[in-house]
Amino acid sequence: MTSEKVSCLIIGSGPAGYTAAIYAARAGLNPVLYQGLQPGGQLTITNDVENYPGYPEGVQGPEMMQDFEKQAKRFGTDIRFGMATSVNFSAYEGHRVIIDETHEIAADAVIVATGATAKWLGLESEQRLNGRGVSACAVCDGFFYRGQDVVVVGAGDTAAEEATYLAKLCRKVHLLVRRDVMRASTIMQQRVQHTPNIEIHWNSETDEILGEEGVTGVRVRNVVTGELSELAVQGFFVAIGHQPNTAIFRGFLDMDEYGYLRTIPGSSRTNVEGVFACGDAQDNVYRQAITAAGTGCMAALDAERYLAAIGVH
Ligand code: NDP
Repeated sequence: MTSEKVSCLIIGSGPAGYTAAIYAARAGLNPVLYQGLQPGGQLTITNDVENYPGYPEGVQGPEMMQDFEKQAKRFGTDIRFGMATSVNFSAYEGHRVIIDETHEIAADAVIVATGATAKWLGLESEQRLNGRGVSACAVCDGFFYRGQDVVVVGAGDTAAEEATYLAKLCRKVHLLVRRDVMRASTIMQQRVQHTPNIEIHWNSETDEILGEEGVTGVRVRNVVTGELSELAVQGFFVAIGHQPNTAIFRGFLDMDEYGYLRTIPGSSRTNVEGVFACGDAQDNVYRQAITAAGTGCMAALDAERYLAAIGVH
C-alpha cells in the first residue's frame, strides 16, 4: 500500500465535487480530487441540460461536466481517476481514505461528493433508450415531452411527485404501480388521484419499453392476470428511488435510514470534524445539478475555514 498526505481531499466528480474543487483550488488548498467510477457523475448519462443557469441555449450533460472539470483543473486541482474503497475517520489518526484498495491518503479535510445513483428496472430496452425517451428525472427532461403522453413507473413519493410535475406539461401521464397500493404519503397520493390527466394502472409492471431510435410505447403486464397490453407514449420515467453512494462511510458518518448523509443544517459539516458532505450524497429532496454545485461551494468554504481554524492553512 502506498501512502501520501494531502490537506484537502475531494471524493466525487459531479457538479458538487468539481465546484468544491474550483473553490478549494482558488483558496490555495491544493485539493486532490478522485473522480470515482463514473467521472462527471449522473449528468454524463443525460443529454440536453436546459435548466443550468449560464447556458442560455442549453448544453449536453457530458459537455457541461467537461467544462466543470476544465475549470477545476485551471486553478490547479489535482484530478485523478480512482475510487475511494474504504475510509477510517478516527479522532486519533485523522482522516484516512483508501483508493482502489492500494493507496492510502491522509487528509486534513475531506469533502464527500459521491452523489447518488438512480435505481433502474434492469430492462435491456431501458438501457438502450436511456436519454432517448427514458429518463430518471422529470424536472430535467419533462420539458421535452410537452403535450405528449408519458409513463411514470413507481409508487413512492418520488413517483407521485414526478407524475404530478409531468401532468402539468404532458397531455397524459400513465402511472404504473406494481401492487394495488401506493407507498407514497397520503397527501401525495391524493394529489395524484385528483389530477385528471394522470391515470393509475394498478398491479402493473413494465414488460418492455418499445421503440428503436426513441420511445414509442410501453408493453405493460398485469401481475394478477398476466395479461399484456400496450400504451403509446413518447417518454418513460423511472421513479423507483435513488441510492446514495455512501456505503463506505457507514459507521463513521451519520446518515438517515436511506443512507443519505446528515449535515448540520445551514452547513456542509458532518458529525466528524473536518469531513464535509455536499451534493446528492446528502440531498434526498432537490437533487439538481445547481443545488449540488451550491452545496459543493459550501463544502469548500467550510473546509477552508476548518483548515484555517486548525492552523493548517
Ligand atoms: P421509495 O423507496 O419510497 O419508493 C420506491 C417505489 O418504487 C415503491 O413504491 C416501490 O414499489 C417502487 N418500485 C421499486 N422497484 C420497482 C420495480 N422494479 N418496478 C416497479 N416499481 C418499483 O423511494 P422514493 O424515491 O419514492 O422515496 C424515497 C424517500 O424520499 C421516501 O422517504 C420519500 O418519502 C422521500 N421523498 C419525499 C419527497 C417529498 O416529500 N417531496 C419527494 C420524494 C421522495 P413497492 O411499493 O411495491 O415496493
